[in-house]
Amino acid sequence: MTERDAAPPLIEIRNLVREYPSGEGKVLALAGVDLDIRRGEMLAIVGASGSGKSTLMNILGCLDRPSSGSYRVSGRETSDLTPDELAALRREHFGFIFQRYHLLGELTAAGNVEIPAIYAGVPVADRRKRAADLLGRLGLAERAGHRPNQLSGGQQQRVSIARALINGGELILADEPTGALDRASGEEVLRILDELRSEGRTIVIVTHDHAVAARADRIVEMSDGRIVSDGLTPGPRRAISPAATMPRPPVPRSGLSSWVDRLGESFRMALLAMAVHKMRTFLTMLGIIIGIASVADVVAIGNASQRKVLSDISSLGTNTIEVFPGKEAGDSRAAKITTLVAADAKALEGQFYVDGVTPTVSTSGTIRFGRLEANALVNGVGQDYFLVKGTKLAQGRLFDAAAVASRERQAVIDDTARATFFPDDANGGVGRIVWLNKLPCRVVGVIAKQQGGFGSSQNISVYLPYTTVQTRLTGDRSLRSLVIRVRDGILTATAERAVTKLLTQRHATKDFSILNTDDIRRTIESTTGTLKLLVAAIAVISLVVGGIGVMNIMLVSISERAGEIGVRMAVGARTSDVLQQFLVEAVLISAIGGLVGILFAVGTGIVFNLFVPSFPITYSATAILTAFTCSAGIGVAFGYLPARRAAALDPIVALARD
Ligand code: ADP
Ligand code: MG
Repeated sequence: MTERDAAPPLIEIRNLVREYPSGEGKVLALAGVDLDIRRGEMLAIVGASGSGKSTLMNILGCLDRPSSGSYRVSGRETSDLTPDELAALRREHFGFIFQRYHLLGELTAAGNVEIPAIYAGVPVADRRKRAADLLGRLGLAERAGHRPNQLSGGQQQRVSIARALINGGELILADEPTGALDRASGEEVLRILDELRSEGRTIVIVTHDHAVAARADRIVEMSDGRIVSDGLTPGPRRAISPAATMPRPPVPRSGLSSWVDRLGESFRMALLAMAVHKMRTFLTMLGIIIGIASVADVVAIGNASQRKVLSDISSLGTNTIEVFPGKEAGDSRAAKITTLVAADAKALEGQFYVDGVTPTVSTSGTIRFGRLEANALVNGVGQDYFLVKGTKLAQGRLFDAAAVASRERQAVIDDTARATFFPDDANGGVGRIVWLNKLPCRVVGVIAKQQGGFGSSQNISVYLPYTTVQTRLTGDRSLRSLVIRVRDGILTATAERAVTKLLTQRHATKDFSILNTDDIRRTIESTTGTLKLLVAAIAVISLVVGGIGVMNIMLVSISERAGEIGVRMAVGARTSDVLQQFLVEAVLISAIGGLVGILFAVGTGIVFNLFVPSFPITYSATAILTAFTCSAGIGVAFGYLPARRAAALDPIVALARD
């Protein structure tokens, strides 16, 4: 048995064909190649430009797949392997050395060396140490922290050799490794390759330099996609040391901790990429910043205006319950139901949940003073009416309980009446006698002008004791309503239930209906809620526009960074690793943009509050959290397409674009 038969060859290639589509026809880059490579062998592939050397190399490295034919590594047919299995093969067993080094510009030498170990799941401490050891061994200990553009070509190539070795690198694939180097640096790289060979590694080197090829054990010459000669170099056969002497690669971890580690690296890479393209990152974020800031501001202003409207309602008489005769509001027989009487008000007065209660009656009539005459709404009310309604007096006073009891002809007029009848009177008409229909009444007070809301109107209102209205104007004993002010700290609903119970007992039936200000409040809340929804919809549209901006820039940046993606894939990144990296970048851009947008919105709110203190704008924690979640979500939604495109890149095409 010869040595050749002792072990199966590391690589077996049979009738390998690779054709590229070209216009109408096809280019045959490999036209049926047969090749075996044994473990520990150093093989040089030579040939004219365009003879198919790189194509063969890419297939050897599992970066490309053949059109037909068979390629086995350690006896395993590679066409049966999934993309992730191929990535694992590249990561764990292969090491690439490119003519143009293909280092990542944002990373230091050590950072570049570590990449394959990150994808292999090697723990941080282990891979740091191993990267440092390898760089030290290749004479780059002092350069570990330098970026590629701070290194000479020879140094960069040595960094790329360290990267090829970090996970083991049993098969080193070097495509014109000295092609871009000066003589001395090239010599240094070849010396390292010799050394790696004597450790037992298998090395395939593509070169057009016959002096370089002569250092290999065997030279394969290609021409027009075929092997035209294959022979051992002259000179002494060098011993191939057993593979066991090769340094053991660190043990990769699998599972959650490795995944978390890779996620962390994705974040670090995304931040680096963002830092390198600061202006572009900022402009990309701008759409999100504006979108989130507008959402946050619109919601905050909406809330502030709602609060303002509600506090206006409160000033009109907060927390009141009004009881009307008739089973439900608008009961057609309400006018005939006369069971709601002043005695009900008396009964309610003593209840713990009642702050004040007043009966009301009303009628319309004419009000006359001297020659002036106008229509007026005449309200008969109790002495507590103004307390209950929260109405303020501008001048004079309100009639008291005694006036109500003895049906005094005392009137409180509203501001419209004052302006109509007593425009020039400093007392606003207090002390004057006006005629209500045929009843002379003394004006005792004037109600303050209502600010906005529902109180102001063109109609004149006059308030008299309800007893006076009942006996002297209408002759009707029944009430229009009872208005109850609920004591502070008692829920309106609780009070409403208690009132209902009490009155139902008194009347032996529920012949009344109840309206409370909470109902009005709810109506307003739902109205402003609808409005907010509308404005929020507009804001969401602006966010979507921002998201499309992110997607757009990401797509551009991915075609710009195809080279980086190609390198990552060549050194063993899975499709999911690339997807994750770009998704993380999109999410980071959006989330940071969202954060800046929130800060901007809060800032404008603070400034606004300084100038317009009467309209306080506040930002709730939930609103801020929602805005932030929204922005991160936009990153995921709009980053997915670009990230998937990055992950779907063909490593060969990506590398060629660099
Ligand atoms: P070498 O590395 O020996 O110079 P290549 O392997 O790069 O040669 O190319 C072999 C042949 O395949 C050439 O004719 C080249 O034009 C062709 N070729 C290589 N890559 C592609 C491609 N992506 N698309 C079309 N033709 C290609
Ligand atoms: Mg080539």
